[in-house]
Amino acid sequence: MKFTERLKTGKKVYSFEFYPPKTAEDTSKLFNTALELMRLAPDFVSVTNSSSGVAPYRTVALCGVLKAQFGLDVVAHLTCLAHTKAEIAEICGGLRKMDITNILALRGDPHNVVSGARRQDYSYAAQLVADLKREGGFAIGGACYPEKHPEASSLDADIARLKEKVDAGAEYLITQLFFDNAYYFRFLEKAAAAGINVPVLPGLMPLTGYKQMQNFTSLMKVGIPDELRRGIERWDGDKEGMFKFSVDYASAQAEQLLKGGAPGLHLYTLNRSRAAIAILRNVKGEVPE
Ligand code: FAD
Repeated sequence: MKFTERLKTGKKVYSFEFYPPKTAEDTSKLFNTALELMRLAPDFVSVTNSSSGVAPYRTVALCGVLKAQFGLDVVAHLTCLAHTKAEIAEICGGLRKMDITNILALRGDPHNVVSGARRQDYSYAAQLVADLKREGGFAIGGACYPEKHPEASSLDADIARLKEKVDAGAEYLITQLFFDNAYYFRFLEKAAAAGINVPVLPGLMPLTGYKQMQNFTSLMKVGIPDELRRGIERWDGDKEGMFKFSVDYASAQAEQLLKGGAPGLHLYTLNRSRAAIAILRNVKGEVPE
């Protein structure tokens, strides 16, 4: 069953996010990670797409390999700020050739677009969703932000824009990572009140260090609960202690989300398998050795 169908049935969906590696060594590590994570029978894996405008086919190529060689159901992220409509149509053609029919439609971050690569055809993800819908044959997802997108004036304003993205054709949403489930549940309530009724898959990631925590707070503007902050400070510099603390924290978060009705989990893996396996083992208790 396709994961988009599964999402509609109420069965929990589990997925992992990868990014395209740049070196041969990192590519080999990612393939090992994919092999490890295949044992968990994920409903899909997704592959990020740089919004820089450089090497747009890196994502397409990796998606093709993960699908053809690993037999994984794949979602290709696709950003639009650095592309014309014609380029987007060409990338869609490439995905079709690889039999990839799932796209997470994204705007991308303006500051990541390399100088001179910004195009004028797209300003927001909803426009890309509308074009992908017109292309036909793709199951389209979108991003959402339980604590609001950093550029939005308020959560309500952000959700009003999100409604446009869903109305344009986004069939499901994946959230920005968050560390306090209260944000997710409040977001769901507000989204439902705004008429957004598509599944919202929570994105989770275990923190690996103090610096990473500071980056998330400043770049992504996500809140760090006191308990998490204290743990990260306590275990900073102790790799194994940090790993256990972070996995336990994310597992507790995951369990509460699933019990509270979340349609599944999307794990940001950073191309590593250990934490994802440990979290799913804690949550599902059925991961083979
Ligand atoms: P949009 O939905 O376009 O929203 C961006 C901002 O514009 C929001 O503040 C929104 O409220 C506002 N807005 C929307 N429409 C309008 C309008 N008509 N008028 C005025 N304001 C409007 N980045 C990458 O580069 N590559 C990736 O692979 C990638 N994957 C991601 C996966 C997930 C699950 C998430 C949550 C984010 C991902 N990102 C990725 C980051 C994302 O590209 C950035 O957060 C980007 O700033 C916003 O993208 P979006 O698709 O949410 O944009």
